[in-house]
Amino acid sequence: MSSAELVLSVEDLTVSFDGFKAIDSLNLYVDKGELRVIIGPNGAGKTTLLDLICGKTRASAGKIRFKNLEMTRLPEHEIVRAGIGRKFQTPSIYENLPVFQNLEVSFPRGRGVFGALAFKCDAEVRDRVHAVADEIGLADQLQTEAGLLSHGQKQWLEIGMLLMQDPELLMLDEPIAGMSVREREVTAELLERICKNRSMIVIEHDMEFVKRIAHKVTVMHQGKILAEGPMDKVQADPRVIDVYLGH
Ligand code: ADP
Ligand code: MG
Repeated sequence: MSSAELVLSVEDLTVSFDGFKAIDSLNLYVDKGELRVIIGPNGAGKTTLLDLICGKTRASAGKIRFKNLEMTRLPEHEIVRAGIGRKFQTPSIYENLPVFQNLEVSFPRGRGVFGALAFKCDAEVRDRVHAVADEIGLADQLQTEAGLLSHGQKQWLEIGMLLMQDPELLMLDEPIAGMSVREREVTAELLERICKNRSMIVIEHDMEFVKRIAHKVTVMHQGKILAEGPMDKVQADPRVIDVYLGH
């Protein structure tokens, strides 16, 4: 019997900050091609969980495996190279550079050599920039200084900068915060498009948006998983209503 292919498996993950367990014996399994949404009250440990997966924070105990590779003790840049991309809540684009250069500098380095090969590499980078700009809806803005983009466009640019690395797992922390209704709609379409070729973990509060994009929802509370499953099941769970949706 073959089940869906696992991309990420997190087991018994724990992190303590001065004795306080921000993540407490947590298990999480994400399939290939899955778009998982994590919800939960402020302080539940959602951002900390992403920090642990991308290597920004070290686990006190437990295991993180990505495509059967042990990630738990790897440095951040090796985790990126293995194929995990992560977008933080505060955008980190180069405001003074055009969209094109923002994408260009995000292409994984260490591939170019000299002469003809370097030239070939330039063409490869250019093609990739154009493909990603298309995907994030900024193909007509390549020469626009990033600082002049709308709030939503800046968020899409940052997602594009991550896509330049072609990650197999992309993690986004509250990607639609501050967006207009129209920008939210465009973002939902974008996320649906990009998860066709990769897995995603998205932290979000907007329940309409979650309902729209989630394949499965994980509800966190006090560093643990409170509930997990399809949105309608999770929404009807009395424990979830009690600690989160009821407020
Ligand atoms: P969420 O993203 O679900 O709102 P966080 O993961 O940001 O929650 O925080 C979970 C808990 O861990 C909070 O109580 C927070 O104060 C604490 N915490 C997070 N990072 C640190 C840290 N580096 N040092 C101490 N406490 C932290
Ligand atoms: Mg958070």
